[in-house]
Amino acid sequence: MLPDVATISHCARLFPRTIEEVSKLATSAINEAKASIGKILDVTDENWISVVRARDSAISAFTATRDVLGIVKETAILKDVRSAASRNYVDMEGFFNANIRYNRDLEGKIRNFIEKNPGEYKDSSERAYYAKETLKEFRHLGLSAADAQFKKIQDMNADIQVVATKYDDAISADVKKIPFTLDELTGVPSDILNGLSKDPTDESSVLVGLDYPTYFAVQRACQVSSTREKLATAFENRAYPQNIPVLKNLLSHRKLFAAELGFKSYAAWDFFRNMAGDTSTVSNFLSLSVQPLQKKWRSELDSLLTSDDGAIKRTTNGKIKQSDIQFMMHRYKTKHLSVDENIIREYFPVDYTIPKIFEVLGSFFDVQFLRADYADFWADDVFAMTIICKRTESLLGHIICDLYPREGKYGHACCASIIPSEQSSDGSSHSPALAVVLANFPKKTSTSPGLLLHSDVETLFHEIGHALHAIYGRCEMTTVAAYNVKMDFIEVPSQFIEEWAWEKDILQKISCHYKTQAVLPEELINAKLKARYFFAGFSNLRQVLLGMYSLCVHQDDIEAQTDLDDKMRNLWESLFPEIEPIPNSHFSCSFGHLSGYGASYYSYHYSKAFAMDVLDYVQANGGLYDPQVGSRYKHALLGKGGSIDPTTIMRDFLGREPNLNAYWQRLGV
Ligand SMILES: [Zn+2]
Repeated sequence: MLPDVATISHCARLFPRTIEEVSKLATSAINEAKASIGKILDVTDENWISVVRARDSAISAFTATRDVLGIVKETAILKDVRSAASRNYVDMEGFFNANIRYNRDLEGKIRNFIEKNPGEYKDSSERAYYAKETLKEFRHLGLSAADAQFKKIQDMNADIQVVATKYDDAISADVKKIPFTLDELTGVPSDILNGLSKDPTDESSVLVGLDYPTYFAVQRACQVSSTREKLATAFENRAYPQNIPVLKNLLSHRKLFAAELGFKSYAAWDFFRNMAGDTSTVSNFLSLSVQPLQKKWRSELDSLLTSDDGAIKRTTNGKIKQSDIQFMMHRYKTKHLSVDENIIREYFPVDYTIPKIFEVLGSFFDVQFLRADYADFWADDVFAMTIICKRTESLLGHIICDLYPREGKYGHACCASIIPSEQSSDGSSHSPALAVVLANFPKKTSTSPGLLLHSDVETLFHEIGHALHAIYGRCEMTTVAAYNVKMDFIEVPSQFIEEWAWEKDILQKISCHYKTQAVLPEELINAKLKARYFFAGFSNLRQVLLGMYSLCVHQDDIEAQTDLDDKMRNLWESLFPEIEPIPNSHFSCSFGHLSGYGASYYSYHYSKAFAMDVLDYVQANGGLYDPQVGSRYKHALLGKGGSIDPTTIMRDFLGREPNLNAYWQRLGV
């Protein structure tokens, strides 16, 4: 049984406050999991409930506690408590891998049951899918191998983790800075220049770092082409040459690992449990994207060239340098698409906009979001939104919102499903669920009104999109409830809800100038909308390029360092024939997503396309305030969690095959 989250105080009590409470919670979860697994292994009266569902419940109870500690390690006020939660979290992960995920006895018991008792699940589509996916998971993890081979696979996996960490570490460790004189940095805004340190070896120069904010600020604004080129060359050579052997090692380890598991390539292994399923689906999706995006990019390029006053020099073969693109686009935007984000944010004070965001969602979801500022959360400014179904008045769950920065707190935005909804043993009802949203928005204080940037508004919609998936995903099997779906589908609901931040009507509903109380003026909204996709051809085509790169290096043979560089250069030349890539670039050394995402870089772009299809359907069938189409979204899409194949979910929701038309239309392709 999962912890009860019937009330806000139940929710608050889940999160331990002291080191002792943290370790007590972890120990009891481990002991409970040991007992549950022992019971499953010993059970003689075997049926779906006593074997398969018992394992599912044991896993979800254990991961719920682990995920509670995942929040504590990122949010607790006291550093010692955060550290204790972090240590216990790692221990729990270790326990999970050794005793649950890679437990061969448990796997044998489950496999045997599934193979010998099809009558226990074949009449239920959810159970049949669960059984099929469980066997796929076992194959993916190598659990079906013989003992010696299994040991080898585990060792290989451990080696891959070590090499991947080495690759990431080399990128983080490369903090080199490039000296430039102030003349060479002409055009760079003073707030960036003021943040640069002096070069200790040459007092006429300052040092420019290669961190993202500094690098992109200089690339966009610096008027000196040679500076941009020099800086871009340094940026594209981060962790070079040290990461060349590391990356080759990583790719060859992954290739051998996949082969040992019986897959043709690491990419094939990586996609096996994804919605896309195989390399040809991903490859086709990426290839299909090229032509429309190239068409859009060419029209963007025409705009850039038309407005160019001769400041951009071409290469000898008439191409534009890669290092000039950011500058050209920024200059065009400043001249023709100017949007002052600091003016826009004046219309989004936190204490007006945040409640309004929940209010506009309430109509579509047909729920009431009731705010509770419960004094016993881990910090004073943490609150919860309780979600009540308007029709049945039943409690669906809670979203705990920790939205403002604090010392030692997690520095980005995210959503975590903590307690998924659990089906009662007779299948007649579901328990309420709990999700947590973390963010770092500007807080209202006595001296500041707490104004959200439009990108903050978009982020909040996005994370609430995940949270509502966590609340509504209700299945018989709890490990596939909430947003426990395939990794290339997980961003569909969040990216669909994120789109609400780009709807004129909604922007007006959630805006209120902090001094004048005026709604966001139409001309500012129009300017923002016009600028949004203006260079979407370039940015999306670059995403496709990176998706193709991460696929091909995990699919093809990489013999030499030049293979890694040649592949990147060839992709640039075929996708962007008008652009001269940075010479002597070794971007593969610092393409950080290669370690974490493997071959699956395509997934963001992929789920965005599905999210646009969902949005298009909703707009055409009642719109964003219509509870009827909202009900269809809740039940046919969110409500399924990971209990059926996402392609089927999309088909059932749309009433047709999903396609890319809505995506192209939005991008203006
Ligand atoms: Zn997301």
